[in-house]
Amino acid sequence: MTTILSSNLGYPRIGELREWKKAIEAFWQGSISEADLKKTTKQLRLQGLRKQKDQGIDLIPVGDFSFYDHVLDTAVAFNIIPERFQHHDPSELSTYFAIARGEANAVAAEMTKWFNTNYHYIVPELKGTAPKLNENRALTYYQEAKDELGINGKPVLVGPVTFVKLSKNYQEKDFEQWIEKLLPLYQQVLQELADAGAEWVQIDEPILGTNLSEAQLSLVEKVYQKLTQEVPDIKIIIQTYFETVQHYQRVVALPVAGIGLDFVHGDNLSLIQQHGFPADKVLGAGVINGRNVWRANLEDKYQLLQGIQEASNVETLLVQPSSSLLHVPVTKVLEQKLDQVVKEGLSFADEKLFEISTLATALKEGKEAVQKDFTASQEAIHNLDQSDYRNQNPEAATKNAQRSLPFSERKKLQHEKLNLPLLPTTTIGSLPQTPEVKGTRTKWRKGEITNEQYEDFVKSETKKWIKIQEDLGLDVLVHGEFERTDMVEYFGEKLKGFAVTEFGWVQSYGSRCVKPPLLAGNVEWEKPITVKEIEYAQSLTDRPVKGMLTGPVTILNWSFVHEELPRFTVQDQIALALEKEVLALEKAGVGIIQVDEPALREGLPLDKLKWPAYFEAAVNAFKIATSTVKSDTQIHTHMCYSDFGAIYEAIDGLDADVISIETSRSHGQMVETFEKNDYDKEIGLGVYDIHSPRVPSVEELLTNIDRALETIDVEQFWINPDCGLKTRKAPETIAALEKMVEAAKIARKRYSKAKQS
Ligand code: GLN
Ligand code: ZN
Repeated sequence: MTTILSSNLGYPRIGELREWKKAIEAFWQGSISEADLKKTTKQLRLQGLRKQKDQGIDLIPVGDFSFYDHVLDTAVAFNIIPERFQHHDPSELSTYFAIARGEANAVAAEMTKWFNTNYHYIVPELKGTAPKLNENRALTYYQEAKDELGINGKPVLVGPVTFVKLSKNYQEKDFEQWIEKLLPLYQQVLQELADAGAEWVQIDEPILGTNLSEAQLSLVEKVYQKLTQEVPDIKIIIQTYFETVQHYQRVVALPVAGIGLDFVHGDNLSLIQQHGFPADKVLGAGVINGRNVWRANLEDKYQLLQGIQEASNVETLLVQPSSSLLHVPVTKVLEQKLDQVVKEGLSFADEKLFEISTLATALKEGKEAVQKDFTASQEAIHNLDQSDYRNQNPEAATKNAQRSLPFSERKKLQHEKLNLPLLPTTTIGSLPQTPEVKGTRTKWRKGEITNEQYEDFVKSETKKWIKIQEDLGLDVLVHGEFERTDMVEYFGEKLKGFAVTEFGWVQSYGSRCVKPPLLAGNVEWEKPITVKEIEYAQSLTDRPVKGMLTGPVTILNWSFVHEELPRFTVQDQIALALEKEVLALEKAGVGIIQVDEPALREGLPLDKLKWPAYFEAAVNAFKIATSTVKSDTQIHTHMCYSDFGAIYEAIDGLDADVISIETSRSHGQMVETFEKNDYDKEIGLGVYDIHSPRVPSVEELLTNIDRALETIDVEQFWINPDCGLKTRKAPETIAALEKMVEAAKIARKRYSKAKQS
């Protein structure tokens, strides 16, 4: 007989109504005290724990809470503090937030995406640090759950191999040495947990879903041999997610108590069927999708679990989500306005807990015990399938879309038409969404003001900012995106096939949350989406205003796509819809159209073998959306941080006339990528970081510009800040842009002289 337990891997931090975000931001603004912040967040934590307990989850995660990011938590707990913050007391919350957000004389630590998700972690900087245990966080939270709620929780840790692998500022040859420095600290953490009575510990090693070298793999073996040997009285579960584990046989042979596998993404089931699973180990079966919000077909999942049970023959099976529920919203019960058929089809974190415990019951007591829940889940899926969202005859996508002229020729026509100066300046699209902007939108949503009043307000903001941009002397202007809460949600609201929630928030970075639209069916363009706003902005100025769209890859990646829909087909449908929007903008006289693809990099599969197919589909979709414009229409695209070396070919393949890249937190690295390749199209690298209120100096901006121009031809280069100005306040934005334009003017003089001589 197999023992069946239900387990969770992590619960959302943000609260049903984003109370977490609100409290943290209020604390940053000084309107609540640290004690208040701690009180509010504790209540939220306990609320989440209580729900898991009430749902009968056997293994409840603790220590998954964070004030910003769990990788940063791990770093600070181990005293891995970037050198520029080392003069602060590491135990102070202010130090922690300073690393994340920067302070007067120190830029914030770099932030990048957590594997292929839209969650961002703070990249630990190893150089110049002396690891020691500042705080056993896992123990603190373990104790809290025990004392307050009598829960014997399962502490969650970021594993040492994943942690070091995701860090920066160390040499590859020192990889082992860093792991060795951390090992005794992990050992101490585990020992203290064991002493306090913890039975299980979940150590997350999602890095095992990526392609590790032989040396790294043997290090994984060494690490877990050591940990199990030194701390025998706690049961370690190594948790992987998001992909098939690479090197399956070696991973499952690790001498730990259990291994958690993702049975939603990748194909771990085949591996078990092929190679079996050690019967004496606990198998964590991640069958409920931790990355998506659609209700599971419980009958299918039940069969999957039975298949897993048969193939693995284990003594103990954990029914669990495929990953932490951090990536999904808290509960669907608050949704009042949602189409009933969509709402029925959903499952957020709380509903997923129910699915998990239902499946565990089915395995323990037979599925008759929960038959009505099985039937309900099937009906919900069937009803959605039969609904308006699906009853369409989708248009087929074009293959191999191409601009009619090569870039070298388009460029001449575009320059003639636009007549921009050397080193043109621009911004990435959004401008500060002040409390007034957000407040007015809320009033409009609640019906307190009319459509017309709202539109007038948006217009007045646009008008104000067109004037500001003209006065600043920017060359290519933006309308400011005041009508958009979010770059994906906005299109989700307007395109057929999508539905949007009111409270379906998930954490993206720090306190920032996003509300991904739900992609329930086939996508269609019905009428112009952005033309009115851009046309209005353009009517106010002689300078070009960019049309501003979100690209197909990003809309797909940042939506919750129903699992029954083939992703690449849907991506092409979005691309076709966007093509219609692009052409509508062009027809309205818009000469520059920016199609943002910030999610292109993060969407990359963990397994490198899957990259070519992903790139091909992504590039093709982008080109479907952008290739049918006239040659003198300039297509821009924009992407956010990270390692561009890996996706360079795709960037080139997009054939966008201009790309802007957010890079200021890793400027040097980015420039190197372009050093190695001869990119011929135009490019703007973010010259300052907008994630903190700090106003950069002209010298600092010029240093970044100079560095870029060592490699990139001056004729190719644009000057812009990083993306996301909507998160900033107006005064600091204006002050920073002023410096940027000043730096551009100096650079322009310098480099046109250099060119002449
Ligand atoms: N146009 C968007 C903006 O400026 C791009 C956002 C992004 O890159 N994530 O906000
Ligand atoms: Zn960006």
